[in-house]
Amino acid sequence: MQEKLVMVFMAVVLAFVALIGKITYINASKGSGYTKIVLEQQQYDSRVIPYKRGDIVDCNGTRIATSERVYNVILDVYVMLSDEKYEKPTTEVLETVFGIPEDTVREIIEERPDSRYEILAKKISYEKAQEFEAIEEDDENYSDVRGIWLEEDYQRSYPYGRLASDVVGFVVGTNEGAIGIESAYNDILNGTNGREYGYFNDDASIERTVKASKNGNTVVSTIDVTLQSMVEQCIREFNEAHAGEARPGQLGSKNTAVMIMDPNTGAILTEASYPDFDLNNPRDLSILYSGEQWSAMSEEEQLTAMNDIWRNFCVSDTFEPGSTVKPMTVAAGLESGILRGDETYDCYGSLHVGDYDISCHQKTGHGTETVQDAVAFSCNVAMMHMAEKIGVDHFLRYQHIFGFGEYTGIDLPGEAYTEELLFNKENMLDVNLATCSFGQGFNVTMTQVAAAFCSLVNGGYYYQPHVVKQIQDGDGKVVEIKDPVLLRKTVSAETSEQLKPYLRAVLEYGTGINAMVPGYDIGGKTGTAEKLPREAENYVLSFIGCAPLENPEVVVYVVIDEPNVARQETSQYVLELSQKIMAQAFPYLDITMKEDYVPEETPAPEEQTENNGASEDYTSYSENYEDTYSNMDGAYIDEDYTPDLDGWAEGMPLEYQVPYPEEESL
Ligand SMILES: [Zn+2]
Repeated sequence: MQEKLVMVFMAVVLAFVALIGKITYINASKGSGYTKIVLEQQQYDSRVIPYKRGDIVDCNGTRIATSERVYNVILDVYVMLSDEKYEKPTTEVLETVFGIPEDTVREIIEERPDSRYEILAKKISYEKAQEFEAIEEDDENYSDVRGIWLEEDYQRSYPYGRLASDVVGFVVGTNEGAIGIESAYNDILNGTNGREYGYFNDDASIERTVKASKNGNTVVSTIDVTLQSMVEQCIREFNEAHAGEARPGQLGSKNTAVMIMDPNTGAILTEASYPDFDLNNPRDLSILYSGEQWSAMSEEEQLTAMNDIWRNFCVSDTFEPGSTVKPMTVAAGLESGILRGDETYDCYGSLHVGDYDISCHQKTGHGTETVQDAVAFSCNVAMMHMAEKIGVDHFLRYQHIFGFGEYTGIDLPGEAYTEELLFNKENMLDVNLATCSFGQGFNVTMTQVAAAFCSLVNGGYYYQPHVVKQIQDGDGKVVEIKDPVLLRKTVSAETSEQLKPYLRAVLEYGTGINAMVPGYDIGGKTGTAEKLPREAENYVLSFIGCAPLENPEVVVYVVIDEPNVARQETSQYVLELSQKIMAQAFPYLDITMKEDYVPEETPAPEEQTENNGASEDYTSYSENYEDTYSNMDGAYIDEDYTPDLDGWAEGMPLEYQVPYPEEESL
């Protein structure tokens, strides 16, 4: 007897501790008689106790995805029909409280009068549940309302709506991550459902067994909600300012995307792209289409449009990088020992390579210039001279060392497959080598460029870019720390140091002068790439920079794909946007300022001078040159590719070590 008492006591404790919502609801309101009827059905079908999917929080613990408790309205038809006086008041409550039409209930009564479990409504709010609870407790007026009960469930919600939409991702159904972190960390976010069984014991009383559910873990992202909001606001303002300007009815750009990274860990603090969408309503594409336009589209067109907007531009879209990779060309030369850095070049506005005259962006030429000037003024001719010396083998090897053509391994789904978007030893002609030296003729992702640039300025350490830093259990206890993953060395510390003055020169007197933020020692590089097909005159504008250059704490990369302006090649657009973002982000991140800096009155942005004319007189390099490169930019996704990057981490293979050239002259 003693033992049995303990058992019963245990069962009661379990019921109160682990059982949530529905049974306590019924117990509290209708007493033991009702409980018995309800539990009677438990021997026929056990019930699932849903787990709560884990939250996604930002680097400071702010919730960006969470699961809220909701309720399903269940009708026990058998109970409602057990006495004819129950039917009318019960049907009335269903209609008045939950808006369930009487006809619906009547249909169910006719078809399934013995049913114990009919879901009449899903995802009822807590407020509605409270309203029903009051009715349940009101035995004076509602004593004949029988057979309705509420089952607990969860609904995914995103308190910041559109913020970092393609990074955070959303779920399909209740718990299936579709894109972003929701998808990449789906198994970690999900828990295990519990189950509740009810059965009769020997003396015909009810006993119940509960297997508690296990809630999912919390994923702590590296994304900073405040910084992300700042950046998205800047992006939105740019797009609003240029909406409909050259292409009526369209946004201010085909896409505007920004990544902010910690170069010393590979952590991504901000990753934004626009147009964005509301995570609470991901199928609403009203940012791009009017209701009329949308309903005129076929289902397939709608699906394509949704996939386009859901695709993470920073990870899945590829484009020709343009001049932002010029520092990598110089680095390849320095690192392989082919360049020393004290060379000079003569730019007369174009260079004859193979059968073509390939233009510099400045048609009048840059004259005689140092390596630093060549980077600062973004001279194509100097880069082509360098690439010729470097040669196909070294050039291609360094493309891969910098991660072009490789997966970065970022912890987000849908990373573009770029291996075939680079030339290889078999098909790279002299003319291809020449154009690749200044960033045309191969495709990259933003993530690849950002990670490569981080390594260039941090002493040569290529970290795996990532958006998640920690996993916590439901109680906030850390169960896993995602340490930074060093994939390989790209360049030596010496080469990294040697490049810094070149990157500084870009903002001091070169093409990036208008991105300068007073008080900070910024190094960077601009990029203007003409998209394929060249005759369409569409451009990708970009800027990548870091601060403080001496010991970089942050890298900012801004890309505007097809700005909606008359002259897309005007780099001023991306410089202004980058300047605005850095001017807000750097103080927020407490980036180290120049020691000797004395703040002045806010100076007006300087006018472009003649010599940094990348923006004002950009000339297509390909005017006299016919493209043989046919990889149109777009998304290339191959989930099966597993890159082997370990080899690179070992350092430079011996056969590639080149003796320092004795007599090099250019
Ligand atoms: Zn030039």
